[in-house]
Amino acid sequence: MTTLTKTSKKTRKQGMLDNVMRQFDNAADIIGLNPNIRKILEVTNNEFVVHFPVRMDNGEVEIFTGYRVQHNNALGPYKGGLRYHPTVDIDAAKALAMWMTWKTSLAGLPYGGAKGGIQLDPSNYSLAELERITRRFTYALGDNIGPELDIPAPDVNTNPQTMAWILDTYMSTKSPSERSTNMHVVTGKPIGAGGSEGRDRATGYGVFLNIKFWAEHKKVDLKDKKFIVQGFGNVGYWAAHFLEKEGAVMTAVQDAYGSIANEDGMSVEELMEYATANKGSVLGFADAVPIDKNDFFALNCDICIPSALGNQITAKNAPKIKAYLIAEGANGPTDVEAEEILLKKGIDILPDILCNSGGVIGSYFEWLQNRNGEIWQLDEVMAKLEKKMGESFKRVLETSQRRKADMRTAAFIIAIERLEEAYVQRGIFP
Ligand code: GLU
Repeated sequence: MTTLTKTSKKTRKQGMLDNVMRQFDNAADIIGLNPNIRKILEVTNNEFVVHFPVRMDNGEVEIFTGYRVQHNNALGPYKGGLRYHPTVDIDAAKALAMWMTWKTSLAGLPYGGAKGGIQLDPSNYSLAELERITRRFTYALGDNIGPELDIPAPDVNTNPQTMAWILDTYMSTKSPSERSTNMHVVTGKPIGAGGSEGRDRATGYGVFLNIKFWAEHKKVDLKDKKFIVQGFGNVGYWAAHFLEKEGAVMTAVQDAYGSIANEDGMSVEELMEYATANKGSVLGFADAVPIDKNDFFALNCDICIPSALGNQITAKNAPKIKAYLIAEGANGPTDVEAEEILLKKGIDILPDILCNSGGVIGSYFEWLQNRNGEIWQLDEVMAKLEKKMGESFKRVLETSQRRKADMRTAAFIIAIERLEEAYVQRGIFP
C-alpha cells in the first residue's frame, strides 16, 4: 500500500493547510503531475478578507472579520461552504477551499473550490445579531460571489436559515428584473426559499452510502455494528439516522459540549430530540453516561465517524483507535501522521473528499433546479445522489486497487488528473 509518508520540502505551519498540501503533494508525485499545473494548483486564486461593522442588540457596534477563499475554477464556478467558528482564519479557509476543489473534481461536478466564513462563536450571539452579521458579510462580499461565479453553502454552524439571509441580501442588491435569476447564488436554502428536497440529509446520507458500499465490498453486515459519531450536527445526525435504519448501533457521541456513551446503544432520534431541546448539546442525555472527551476515539466500536472539525484524529489518539473503519464526515478530520498510523494498523479510511461529497452533490442538484426552473421530488434527488456516490466510490476503489494506494491517495489522483486534463486541453492564457 502507498501511504502518505512524504513530507513536504517546504516547512509549513502544522494544521489543515499543511495536511491538504501534503495530501496533494503525495498524489501529485505519484502521477508525476505536470510541474506547471502543479504550480497553479498549489496556490489559491483569490482570497478575500473583509472587516465589517454590525450593531449588536445592546446598541454597541462590533467589528467582524469574514473570509472567502477561491482556490480554483478551472472546472466551473467556485463552490463551497461558509462556516461560523472561532477557528476560521485565512489558512483554514485556504485549506478548506482546496479540499472543495478536489471534492468537486472527484465527484465530476462542473465546479471549482472555495470556502469561507466568519471567525466567531455563534453561541455568543442572538438570532437577530446573527442575521445582521450574515447580511452585512454578504454585502461586504458583494459581487465576489454570484450564481455563476462563486456559490456558498452551509458548513459548520451555518444552516438553511443562514443561506436564506444571504440569498435575500444578495438579491436585494440587484435590479428588480435580475432578482429572481439569482436564486442559485447559494445552495442549502430552505425549501420555501428555493432549496431542494433532500439537501438537508445529502451529506449524512452520502456518508452512510459510502459505509454501505464499503461494507458490501468487504462483505461486512452492518447489522449490530457499533458506531461512534463526533459532531451531532447535520452531517453526524443524518449519517447516524441512516446507519441505525440499517441495524447498526450508535454507542457514543461527542459534540462541542461533551461526550456521552452507552455500550448497548442509544436511539438516534431520541438523542436528536433531546439535543434540539437542550440548545444543541447532547450532554445530559438520560440514556447514556458522560465520558472524558480524551477517551472518545479510544472507545470500543466498529465504525468511527468524525463529522465535526479538522485535525481531530492525530498521532496522539490514532494508536488507540479500535474502529476498523473511519468514515470522514468532516473535512480534514485525520491528519497525515495519524493516517500513516491508522493505515499501518490496517484501518480503512473513507476520505472526506469522497465520503462527505454528498453535500456538494446535493447542492449541485439544487443549483441545477434553480437554474432550470425545476422542482424535483425527494425520491428523485436521493436516487440521483445514490447513483453519483456509487460511481465515485467505485472509481476510487478501482484506482486504489490499480495503484496499490490507500483510498485518499486514489481519490486525490482522480481529482487531480481531471484538473490536469482540463489545463492540458485549454492551455494557459494568454
Ligand atoms: N460545506 C459542505 C462541504 O464541505 C458543502 C459545500 C457545498 O455544498 O457547496 O462539502
